[in-house]
Amino acid sequence: MFGWLGKREAKAEPIDAGLWESATLPYLFMRGMAAADAERLRELASGFLARKHFSGTHGLDITPFMRVQVAAQASILVLELGIEWYDGWSEVIVYPGQFAPEREVVDETGVVHLVNDPMAGEAWLGGPVILSYEDVAMTSDEDARVAGYNVVIHEFAHKLDMLNGDPNGCPPLHAGMALAAWRKAFSGAYDDFCRRVDEADAREEDDGGAALAELPIDPYGSESPGEFFAVASEAFFETPELLEPAYPAVYGQLREFYRQDPLARLAAAGG
Ligand SMILES: [Zn+2]
Repeated sequence: MFGWLGKREAKAEPIDAGLWESATLPYLFMRGMAAADAERLRELASGFLARKHFSGTHGLDITPFMRVQVAAQASILVLELGIEWYDGWSEVIVYPGQFAPEREVVDETGVVHLVNDPMAGEAWLGGPVILSYEDVAMTSDEDARVAGYNVVIHEFAHKLDMLNGDPNGCPPLHAGMALAAWRKAFSGAYDDFCRRVDEADAREEDDGGAALAELPIDPYGSESPGEFFAVASEAFFETPELLEPAYPAVYGQLREFYRQDPLARLAAAGG
C-alpha cells in the first residue's frame, strides 16, 4: 500500500475521508476527477504530510484542515510523478496573510516570488515553501477566488522547476520528451503573452483593467520564463479550458510533463 513512498520510508499520515472531502471539494482541479484518482491523490497527500513539516508565523495555528488543503494542492502536480519529486527539503511556512520579507536575499541565490510586495508565496531553492494562508484559503472560496490563480500550485511548480537548478521555466523533462519542443512551445507562447500583457497594460487607464482581466492566464506570467511556467501550471490544473485554446503547444508539453490531461477530465465530467 505504501510502495509509492520509495526508498526513504516515511510514516504516512492517513487523512480522514470526511476531512479530505470538505477540504478538497471546492477546488477547480478536482472537477471531473475519477474516484480512483481522487483516492490516489489522498494517499499522495498523506505521504506529503508525513514528509513535510508545517509551521505558522505570527501565532497562526496550523489546523489539520489547513494542512490537508496545502497537501492536496501540492500533490496534484505530482499525482503521476510521485512524492519523491518534492524530496530534498522539508519545511512549509505559513503566514496568516501576505508578507513582505526583508529583501537582502536576491533572486540570484534562488529566491522566487509570486507578487512583488507584499507576497502571496515564495519557494526557495533547496529550502522552504512559504505561503500566505489568506491566499491559500481564497482558492477554495467560490465567491472570492480568481479562477486560475492558485498560490500553492504556483510555488510547487517552482519547486519542480528547481530540481535542475534555478527556476528558468524548464523542469527536468521525462525520457521521450524533447527539450527543443519544450523550448519552442514555451518561448513562442511567452513572447506572445508578454506582448498581450503590454497591450493590456497600455489600455488599463482607458478600460479599467478589462483587457488584463481577459487574458487567458495571470499577467504575472510575463515577469520571466520561470514565472510563465508556474502561472501556466496554475492554469493547466485550474482552468485548462482557457489555457489550451490560447497556448495549445504549452498545454501539450505540460500534459506530457505532468502526465495528466485536466481538459479530458473536464470533458469526461460533461463540462
Ligand atoms: Zn513565482
